[in-house]
Amino acid sequence: VTSNEIIRQLIKHSVFASINQVVEYEKASLVAQDLGFEPSQAEITAPTGTRSTMSASEAMATRDDKNMVITPPVVTIMGHVDHGKTSLLDVIRKTKVAAGEAGGITQHIGAYQVEVNDKKITFLDTPGHEAFTAMRARGAQVAHVAIIVVAADDGVMPQTREAIDHARAAKMPIIIALNKIDRPNANPDRVKQQLVENDVLIEEYGGDIICVPISAKKGEGIDELLDYILLVAELQDLKANPNLPATGVIIEAKLEKSSGPSATVLVQQGTLKMGDNIVVGPISGKVRAMFNDRGKRVQKAPPSTPVSIMGLPEVPQAGDHLEVLEDEKTARQQAQKELEQRRGETNNLGQVSLDTLYTQMQEGTVKELNVVLKSDVQGSAEAIKGSLSKLGEENLKVRLIREGIGNVSETDVHLAAASGAIVIAFNVKPDGAALREAQKEGVDIRYYNIIYKLIDDIQAALTGMLEPQY
Ligand code: GDP
Repeated sequence: VTSNEIIRQLIKHSVFASINQVVEYEKASLVAQDLGFEPSQAEITAPTGTRSTMSASEAMATRDDKNMVITPPVVTIMGHVDHGKTSLLDVIRKTKVAAGEAGGITQHIGAYQVEVNDKKITFLDTPGHEAFTAMRARGAQVAHVAIIVVAADDGVMPQTREAIDHARAAKMPIIIALNKIDRPNANPDRVKQQLVENDVLIEEYGGDIICVPISAKKGEGIDELLDYILLVAELQDLKANPNLPATGVIIEAKLEKSSGPSATVLVQQGTLKMGDNIVVGPISGKVRAMFNDRGKRVQKAPPSTPVSIMGLPEVPQAGDHLEVLEDEKTARQQAQKELEQRRGETNNLGQVSLDTLYTQMQEGTVKELNVVLKSDVQGSAEAIKGSLSKLGEENLKVRLIREGIGNVSETDVHLAAASGAIVIAFNVKPDGAALREAQKEGVDIRYYNIIYKLIDDIQAALTGMLEPQY
């Protein structure tokens, strides 16, 4: 079976993968079945509850090369709300980053690096497992170690369990940070007991999971925690080859008012350099400026380094893969290919408009409303997504096929055209090329600046109650 065929099938399951990407077993087995094969899982070596997908560290280690060097671990912090994830990220940043460097104020770029005993550690700066899961859902494996924060006065809570499950699913080693030990009602022993009841076998109970008591507020136990991260990382033997052209993952992206699209790349293999021709999903460009987490201009970024880059014509999506190609033309071609692949099999779909949606649904030519959502800020996007997901009856579903921040671009319209989707522009406009393309392809772009109006319209369209627009 050709790779194109597999990629097309994956799109049907909402996975927009590139050819080099690791795909979860569940999705892979569905695709195998679609293609007429009978899948079976080859090996399960990990503890129960984990999947047999390659973890980020395994992905690193499989690239055999003499030039491999040890790379910093990438750490994600997860846990229940209010247990102290943000406080922990802040205290590590404050104590470790400001120390060495004069005026070393960190910029929020989605990740930062600290140095402990001459070794670097990269922290993903978005606490919580939602961001992490969203990236994993897109096939991106970014972190090597998961810190699960549990408040000693509150114990294991639903999101603690979720976080543990996510870490295990990604085959990441876990370190428990038992936070808020300064609180008078802290009860570390009870929490440890709960952890064990949840199959988190900590050392004290004969397991191998490290549990470090800390107080993010008072800065206690932080050095120990960092030492343990390095220890756990060492056991993983994380290596990468800095001499290769870079590959990486977008961990955050936004539209800057003054300078245009910017994206934070976490380099995974190779070294990203100024002037590199890059392709990120369906977008190609060139690295025209690169900044580290201190806001300092840098010329290159080795593996496990987060850098904010400029030079992409559009805002990419978090979780998209970045690749460096030898020249501009190849990068453009690859982006074009990616775009066509994302259009995939959906090509035979007719165009959909909100006005005719109900009729099309009745006729059975449309079964769900595909939506490309562009909005001005992440906050609105989240709110709209939340409301949209609640809409629709059993057989009338709304499916978000792309979402992003910034104006509606030609790429958005292409994807909408290819997937029979409408475009929702919330507080944003289409650019010239996008508008021309939308007219040519008959893509319905709907403009809103009030969320409830948007939701009302979609709801009305789904039930055949929408007043036509002229
Ligand atoms: P998040 O929702 O997990 O990111 O939690 P936050 O970091 O926002 O912390 C929630 C609350 O707990 C805040 O009011 C913090 O000041 C407080 N907090 C966090 N860590 C500690 C700690 O070690 N000790 C105490 N006493 N309070 C803490």
